[in-house]
Amino acid sequence: MAKVYYDDDADLGVLKGKVVAIIGYGNQGRAQALNIRDSGVEVMVGGMADATLEAAKADGFRTGSTSEAAEVGDIICLLIPDEVQQAVYQKDILPHLRPGKALDFAHGYNPHYGFISPPKETDVIMVAPRMIGVGVRDNYTAGKGVPAFVAVQQDSSGKAWPKTLALARAIGCTRTGAIETSFAEETELDHFSEHFVWPAIFRILVGSFDFLTANGFQPEAALIELWASKEAAEVLTRMAEVGIFGQMDFHSQTSQYGTLSRMERALPAATRACMAEALAEIKDGSFAREWEQERAAGYPVFTRLKRAALNHPVNDLERETRKLVEG
Ligand code: NDP
Repeated sequence: MAKVYYDDDADLGVLKGKVVAIIGYGNQGRAQALNIRDSGVEVMVGGMADATLEAAKADGFRTGSTSEAAEVGDIICLLIPDEVQQAVYQKDILPHLRPGKALDFAHGYNPHYGFISPPKETDVIMVAPRMIGVGVRDNYTAGKGVPAFVAVQQDSSGKAWPKTLALARAIGCTRTGAIETSFAEETELDHFSEHFVWPAIFRILVGSFDFLTANGFQPEAALIELWASKEAAEVLTRMAEVGIFGQMDFHSQTSQYGTLSRMERALPAATRACMAEALAEIKDGSFAREWEQERAAGYPVFTRLKRAALNHPVNDLERETRKLVEG
């Protein structure tokens, strides 16, 4: 059984008199900074002197450069994009990693693939919410929390776990449950979803849209059937709440029979082979090397792929279709 930690397992007192430095004020940075402060812990936000830092100031935070925040912080949360963390770490974080400090990640990517290898005197910890930033904040303010993966890669102080759990509590994650994992497991699971599960879902949805419209179905009707009505989102929510098969009772028997009797053919051997391929690239580090080369080259492939996706005719149609079904 996975080990799960709740509020009673986490002592916020561990963070008393300490400063949590939040580096980056984006999706996770803003949400985590606000939650940690509302949990009674002192926070300083560090980043480049620009609009983002102004936003942190406007939210009432003490701010400074990345280097200044890393100097002040007892726990340094690196909440900037994964592919820029290595350079920022080398220049602005590493010089301030004195013994007793902890470096916290919201994703195990850089330590797991060895892009960041903190000195052995530093605690290396992870609180990785399984939720986008706005969800981390909204749930917290609603008195709820979001699940997180928690891990310790390096326990130099002997107190890395109490620090990790206190941080998870301050973010609101132990309200619902913080699941113990490792940097490797979190990274590989996260990437497997991103490299196989979501591409398969996106491809099947867009491919079905292309197929249906090519076969004479009205584009708006196809979109509404596939995802624009939000029924698909509702089904995913119910899956999380009552189970992937448990939620089937919300559908007609005709629907249930159709799904169950045709489920196997939706995952042919070729698709299973893609799963194995995705996992192999994650485990042997070839995706991480590819992404690092892509960053170094100025994101040429990423830019081309994203532009092509945003130029797909479905984008315009979605805008029009949303207007048709907005209440
Ligand atoms: P964002 O893309 O939202 O980070 C943006 C922030 O990073 C901004 O403050 C930006 O400042 C700053 N930043 C960008 N480039 C640099 C740079 N070169 N030097 C200094 N600061 C920089 O990141 P996320 O919140 O999406 O991700 C942060 C971490 O959280 C990652 O490890 C990610 O994997 C993890 N994570 C993210 C989730 C999410 O919801 N997105 C979910 C769970 C984990 P500026 O405006 O100046 O560029």
